[in-house]
Amino acid sequence: MNATEKKRKKLKQQSVFQVESRGFCVQCRKPQMKCYCCLLEPFQSKPRIVILYHPLERRKKMTTGRMTHLCLSNSFLFSGVDFTHHQRLNELLEEYKNKTFILMPRADAFNLDEPAKGEEWRNKVSSSLVILLDGTWRNVKKMFRESKNLHFLPALAFKNPPISQIKVKKQPMEYCLTTLEATASVLQWSGEERFIRLKNVFESVVADQVEYKKKSFKSRHLRD
Ligand SMILES: [Zn+2]
Repeated sequence: MNATEKKRKKLKQQSVFQVESRGFCVQCRKPQMKCYCCLLEPFQSKPRIVILYHPLERRKKMTTGRMTHLCLSNSFLFSGVDFTHHQRLNELLEEYKNKTFILMPRADAFNLDEPAKGEEWRNKVSSSLVILLDGTWRNVKKMFRESKNLHFLPALAFKNPPISQIKVKKQPMEYCLTTLEATASVLQWSGEERFIRLKNVFESVVADQVEYKKKSFKSRHLRD
């Protein structure tokens, strides 16, 4: 049993884990065996993060939008396709007028890994609202197309993004980051040292998934 498993077991014994009657955790929506809530150390991040996720993401086994939201106590998580008339999002856009960015690989995006204007942009982004779209590339394109209130937001992107560490979900390209990895990278870039807490939860959940896959592969072969 590794350190994370020990911590999880101990916290579960202390009743940190909350379950619904059907055996799913109220918070992370995972079955009891896969609940990761005891690993969370939520904090208020700078910049503030908004995750807009496609409704189909809910069906997937490994979604990191919710995980990201649970790691950041001042973040927002909204589901939908067309956000043009989304009341809360529009209130936030008004509150953060001229201080909202969307993370998206657009031709006119400011590249976060370009050192030239680094400091000026770091200050600008760290006091802003950063919007991320969570879904397949196809769904994300549709969400952006239909959400007219997002069209005029300045974009941020990674020209040379770090390689995704996710091993259980097939990414279209290895440089396509999950929502959690992308958020952690933005936070790290903006000088938020606690970005590591997101990575810790993520790595632990990925390690669990890999372990689970190995075990089920073994048991299937033993049965055969
Ligand atoms: Zn949970």
